[in-house]
Amino acid sequence: MTFTLKNKNAILFDMDGVLYDSMPNHSKAWSQAMTDFGIRMTPEDVYMNEGSTGSFTIKKISLRERGYEATEEEVERIYRHKAEIFQSLPVARLMPGALEVFRKAKASGLQIQIVTGSGQKTLIDRVLHDFDGFITRDLMVTSFDVKRGKPYPDPYLKGLEVGRVDAEHAVVVENAPLGVRAAVAAGIDTIAVNTGPLDDSALMAEGPKLLLPSVQALADSWESLF
Ligand code: CA
Repeated sequence: MTFTLKNKNAILFDMDGVLYDSMPNHSKAWSQAMTDFGIRMTPEDVYMNEGSTGSFTIKKISLRERGYEATEEEVERIYRHKAEIFQSLPVARLMPGALEVFRKAKASGLQIQIVTGSGQKTLIDRVLHDFDGFITRDLMVTSFDVKRGKPYPDPYLKGLEVGRVDAEHAVVVENAPLGVRAAVAAGIDTIAVNTGPLDDSALMAEGPKLLLPSVQALADSWESLF
């Protein structure tokens, strides 16, 4: 059966790489921060680990590059350094098509929610401002709301809980392989949007119902999904 949004009541959006074109900044900040600590991290590493917590990423790359995991203290220093570099970069623009998708989703009667692994307070405040009229804080799940981040299903399960919706009546929009994995593990139909440099196969391997090349493409094909 072809994928349809007809039976959906809620749409859950990831934030970085879906609502904001912020991944190039994250990529720069990660590579620079890790290099400053003597650990090599490529842009592909950043995109393949997108969605998981900073701690998880740092430990994994450290193990691969140095043969041992970073200590908790080192993890904290690297992550703080990364956040500082990220803050110093120009503010990421809204993803083209994001507001249009929000408008169409609202007009279709879907409840709009955001599920992000981010714990950057400034970004969360910015979302509430940029998408005013579409989203409220109680329908947002951030890293403050769950213990285990993506690729565990926990953030999306929490999203279903706060949205009072069951998995079969929800749909997720994600750009990262680990984000798709988390949503699929929560039992939710997922639309992958390939807004970064990864090959489509990296996203398709995680089992989305649909793969689109951009958020604008989702806006453009919205009516055909009903
Ligand atoms: Ca993302």
